[in-house]
Amino acid sequence: MSIPPGDPTGTETGEPVTVMDVGGTTLRVGTFDARGSGRLSDVRRTQVDGMARHPGAPVPVLQRHVVDQIVREAERRAGTRSGTDPTALAVAFAGPVGRDGTVLGAPTVWGAGGESLPLREILSARLSVPVLVVNDLTAAAWRYGTESSVPFCLLTISSGIGNKVFRGGDVLLDPGGYGGELGHWTCDRSPDAPLCDCGGRGHLGAIASGRGVLAAVRRAAARDPAGYARSAPARAGAADPRFVGNPEIARAVRNGDPFTTSVLRSTLVHLAAAVGGVFASIGIRRYVLMGGFALAIGERYRELLVEELIRQGCFGLTAAEVDAMVVLGEDDDDHGLIGVGRLMGRRLAVHREKVTL
Ligand SMILES: [Zn+2]
Repeated sequence: MSIPPGDPTGTETGEPVTVMDVGGTTLRVGTFDARGSGRLSDVRRTQVDGMARHPGAPVPVLQRHVVDQIVREAERRAGTRSGTDPTALAVAFAGPVGRDGTVLGAPTVWGAGGESLPLREILSARLSVPVLVVNDLTAAAWRYGTESSVPFCLLTISSGIGNKVFRGGDVLLDPGGYGGELGHWTCDRSPDAPLCDCGGRGHLGAIASGRGVLAAVRRAAARDPAGYARSAPARAGAADPRFVGNPEIARAVRNGDPFTTSVLRSTLVHLAAAVGGVFASIGIRRYVLMGGFALAIGERYRELLVEELIRQGCFGLTAAEVDAMVVLGEDDDDHGLIGVGRLMGRRLAVHREKVTL
């Protein structure tokens, strides 16, 4: 899937919007031409002024730091642009966000707990420009979705797992921000199932994420030391499984290593069950795979997931149809920035139409 090229030269009369993607460790800032070319430019990455930088600081202090940093970056971006018109700000944020732009929680940015933060309201008041705040994966869904596109489910497999369903020109979400949390679906109900970041046990994100697969490789190595010793990661230098990381696992699976592939397959049983559940309940026939772990393995990851989906069966679909419904997303770091820029462009256009009428 790719973005419509629009005006590749970027010479059309544009509408520059400052776009930001606030993640657990990185704040990405860019300029997105929301009206003309749909081009993302001048991307800058910096460390988020949250708990990664100030471990142990109280949540309200970290919230203040992050808000100040967003304001600073937005002002700097507006100041470096030619012309003095204030420009809109669109923020993709790592955490559940209500329809009014309130951040309901941000465990990776400022830690668990704390009050929800009316981020959109605060930023609009401080910057006096139109502001949009949405969840980062909702933003990413807008990179692939248009009003006319076929419904799809975005699945991100990185250190955690998340999803968003895009249908009828919008991301399906409860107004309170619920939805898209397949990573916290309990797929292993045994009492000693792996613990999730959220404190729950046996959640999909604790099992099939990059972190989950890494833990599964270490458990498999403890059960079968001889098998592990013959595996690609062990032969590549990580004789002690504590020194294996996701890059070694991804490389091993890409190169067809039987040990790591078999561990990955055991976790994909659960991911395939989740995909099968989404398909069976609402009939979504397109799944876009994103996230550092899945994309590091690439096509082989897609193939293994498809094999497992075919094994489990998708009611009414042939193997070829199942194969066609799973695709890899773009392998870059710009999903949140491009997506939130496109969504802001759409909102501004709707606003303009209303004003004209
Ligand atoms: Zn969880």
